[in-house]
Amino acid sequence: MTGEQQVPLAVADEWAWHAVDNPTPSAADVVIIGGGIVGCSAAFYLARQGVQVALFEKGVISGEQSGRNWGWIRQQGRSPVELPMMVRSLRLWQELPAELGEDIGFRQGGTLYLAETSAQLAKLGEWLPTAREHGLDTRLVAGRELDEILKSGSSRWTGALHTASDGRAEPGRATRAIARGACRAGARIVSHCAVRGLERAAGRIQGVVTEHGVVAARAVVCAGGAWTRLFCGSIGITVPQLPVLGTVARTAPAAPLLDGQAWSPRIAVRRRADGGYTVAHGGSSLHSLVPATFRFALKFLPALRQGYESLRLGVGREFFKALATPARWNLDAPTPFERERALDPAPEDRVLGQLRAAMRHWLPEIADAPFLETWGGMIEVSPDVLPIISNVEGLEGFYVATGFSGHGFGIGPGAGRFIADMVNGTADRLELASFRLSRFFDGSPIRPGPAV
Ligand SMILES: Cc1cc2nc3c(=O)[nH]c(=O)nc-3n(C[C@H](O)[C@H](O)[C@H](O)COP(=O)(O)OP(=O)(O)OC[C@H]3O[C@@H](n4cnc5c(N)ncnc54)[C@H](O)[C@@H]3O)c2cc1C
Repeated sequence: MTGEQQVPLAVADEWAWHAVDNPTPSAADVVIIGGGIVGCSAAFYLARQGVQVALFEKGVISGEQSGRNWGWIRQQGRSPVELPMMVRSLRLWQELPAELGEDIGFRQGGTLYLAETSAQLAKLGEWLPTAREHGLDTRLVAGRELDEILKSGSSRWTGALHTASDGRAEPGRATRAIARGACRAGARIVSHCAVRGLERAAGRIQGVVTEHGVVAARAVVCAGGAWTRLFCGSIGITVPQLPVLGTVARTAPAAPLLDGQAWSPRIAVRRRADGGYTVAHGGSSLHSLVPATFRFALKFLPALRQGYESLRLGVGREFFKALATPARWNLDAPTPFERERALDPAPEDRVLGQLRAAMRHWLPEIADAPFLETWGGMIEVSPDVLPIISNVEGLEGFYVATGFSGHGFGIGPGAGRFIADMVNGTADRLELASFRLSRFFDGSPIRPGPAV
């Protein structure tokens, strides 16, 4: 035990579009499965283009990854493959507060990657050419300059990589605001309503079967986060994806250290709109082995090699839970999606303990700020740690948007806009090729992007 009080994550459902109050529509142009930031953003941009959208969420909007993440909107350190989409996403974030008419906690306070040694700083500096190529304001900072950004004794660090234009937002609040914006633009959003499967005919999508009935549609986008592998597997589509547990805490309001976010291998911290901090370990996540680990082992090997310092492997309950989960089911009876409305894993006590110790050592100014809430978040990871935003060969009208791998919040609006273009047939062909699902099966080399 760490002595930290564990408080369950309160997932506010102040905008619950219960099926009872909001009867399931019988038809839509496009159905979206999943009410995370990716599904909600896709609904928002599609609805604004005049497309009739219906979104179904088995639990509550932003109840899983999109409401549990660190809230970093980061260009810094990304793979060049997803950087153009992220740069576009940041522009959309800049527009969103005015478009939504809500304070979603969006600020551009910058990202810092802190180095303890010169070797670490030199390694961080290797990203500068990528930043330059994409026109970013990324720089190496140290001494007085670092002091001005992070008011916490820069002498503890050799220096840092800094991108001043990076942003932050309040994850659950922002996702729910985007969902509300989608509704105002004409989307129908129904929470507490799982999609059980698809209706198909002659290799084409006809619609979906939800727990409240059939909904006809010409296109279906599966943005089901960590459930996408299970959903797609049930219809014979393989999506290589594995879960990783992250442990997070939020503190009471504390001394103003920085306006944005900072990462080091031991501690990651983001200023919150309420004056507290969202804090997490900078390099400690847990993958509990599941049968899919063995099935996809070869595909994930490069990512595992790259992230071995920060990833721990565990054996336990998750393995037997996955074994007991059916791979296929009847569409006229409750499915695994209705049995677990929200993935709500417990945070790890040992990580919370390490976190507190790291705060004392590295950020003493906020070391005593009590944790008001602690939670676990199941991150879904793809083999190259990059998104899958793709059509599916052999099933016309079906699309997958998943695999955002620990950095899908910041890119969420950009991904949503891209999904709208993909469904409308106007998405950039080169980008479509980069994010295609088939890259994992057509012999292309799997080269993981930066994990953090
Ligand atoms: C601890 C943690 C820290 C992170 N930090 C950051 C960060 O700082 N910055 C960043 O950019 N990203 C971060 N991420 C990653 C980011 O949160 C995710 O990449 C992003 O939220 C993914 O959004 P999504 O919409 O794809 O998935 P989700 O938010 O997981 O949403 C998927 C939704 O689909 C629903 N669903 C699934 N199956 C069905 C079905 N059959 N019927 C109906 N509904 C269904 C689920 O209930 C769920 O609500 C972090 C993630 C975690 C967990």
